Amino acid sequence: MYYVSTRDAARRLTASQAIAQGLALDGGLMTPEVFLRLPSNALEVMKGMSYAQRAVYVMGPFLSEFSTAELNAFAQAAYGGGKFDCPEVAPVRQVDENTYCLELWHGPTCAFKDMALQMLPHLLTASLKKNGERKRVCILVATSGDTGKGALEGFKDVEQTKILVFYPQNGVSAIQELQMVTQEGGNVGVCAVKGNFDDAQTGVKRLFADEELREKLAKRRWFLSSANSINWGRVLPQIVYYVSAYCDLLAQGAIQNGQAVNVCVPTGNFGNILAAYYAKAIGVPIAKFICASNANNVLTDFLQTGVYDKNRPFYNTLSPSMDILVSSNLERLLLALTGDHAQVAGYMKELSETGRYQVSDKVLDKLRQEFAAGYCDDVQTKAQIAKTWQAHRYLIDPHTAVAFHVLEEYRRETGDQTPAIAVSTASPFKFCDGVLDALGVTERAQGLDILDQLAQVTGRNVPAPLAGLRGKEPRFTQCTEKERMVDQVLEMLR
Ligand SMILES: *Cc1c(COP(=O)(O)O)cnc(C)c1O
Repeated sequence: MYYVSTRDAARRLTASQAIAQGLALDGGLMTPEVFLRLPSNALEVMKGMSYAQRAVYVMGPFLSEFSTAELNAFAQAAYGGGKFDCPEVAPVRQVDENTYCLELWHGPTCAFKDMALQMLPHLLTASLKKNGERKRVCILVATSGDTGKGALEGFKDVEQTKILVFYPQNGVSAIQELQMVTQEGGNVGVCAVKGNFDDAQTGVKRLFADEELREKLAKRRWFLSSANSINWGRVLPQIVYYVSAYCDLLAQGAIQNGQAVNVCVPTGNFGNILAAYYAKAIGVPIAKFICASNANNVLTDFLQTGVYDKNRPFYNTLSPSMDILVSSNLERLLLALTGDHAQVAGYMKELSETGRYQVSDKVLDKLRQEFAAGYCDDVQTKAQIAKTWQAHRYLIDPHTAVAFHVLEEYRRETGDQTPAIAVSTASPFKFCDGVLDALGVTERAQGLDILDQLAQVTGRNVPAPLAGLRGKEPRFTQCTEKERMVDQVLEMLR
């Protein structure tokens, strides 16, 4: 299978080239030329499989240069061997009669980024080998909180690689920051950026586009690659859990084969919900994609009006991993809907020049057929956490609460009672402050004691990776101006 840039169909690469390169050289995103449908009995066949086996089954056709033996080894390394704290890896829990919650936070960093970032290093290092790449690779990451830690865990001490993570100063939770700055490993770097997530992300994109930097690093035998969800190696492993969730619902007898479900996804960069869209493209019966945003509701407006406009105030919310105004992966959806690379390139040009673009009525029609959208502010987020806890004794983090709120609103407004999978993207213990506040606890414990406090109030266990932060010393304390990020790269790759 070949991959093309969203902006130019003539830029064709193999899977391993696309993954090794990260971003297309024209600034577009590498995307499969076609989506092959799964065999008609695939969902029944996968019902009895482990998560790792399902991953091999789903990813295989997208990775034709990789042998099944290779993929089995990657999937075992990523999802086997006790890295996830439950055997299902991505369990589906029933919350009420027609609501199911797909929990994606049972991995080593307690957020859904692990689902892809435990797999990406295997795909990437193998891709480099297949392409005879002799240079070493440095992964640059801009993070709104969870990607950074997920990538650090995935790449720590992986041979021939280094990883450098930039996060917005004051833009991530205390626990997220502590998780990153205490990261172990001989090949890792972490640096705060003065600004918000978009500043960090724009800065990283600029580093990738910097020809002079690229030449300098090549002389030192380094090149740059990405672990952000613009890399196909991030999106592909995410398709797996939608397929897996559907298989689990079948296995539980919750639905009949072929029966449609809705999915509701708390969305930032549009990677997670895009993976759901691709799951449908290969044959999972999904009716509606419900896109849930926080107060940074640029996507809600876009999906309702067809106008994408990032010229608006930026809010730091209780769900910081969704505090994003430029959702990079939307570009891939635009290609899927238009099939027209030049049109996509045009929209993206407008976006970079004016911060705004408007899709045609035809594209808007298609969007509205399959997508619904809503948003949820911090007050509503807290109310939802409390409500879900009181009604179902089900504890959710603020990101997940955004999805629950938007799903309820969608059902109220449309009357659509299709069984829905709400996606849970982080452990509530990653966001103790917001969750305790929501539960009405006003006296807050200090520092990491807040983990035990939430455990006491709810009777749930602190996830081991978070409990393990106790007693770890920060290793990284740097903070850079966004214009000086290049210095950090040159310093790390001396
Ligand atoms: C990254 C993240 C999101 C947003 O996912 P996208 O793929 O960027 O849309 C939502 N919730 C949590 C907890 C995250 O870490």
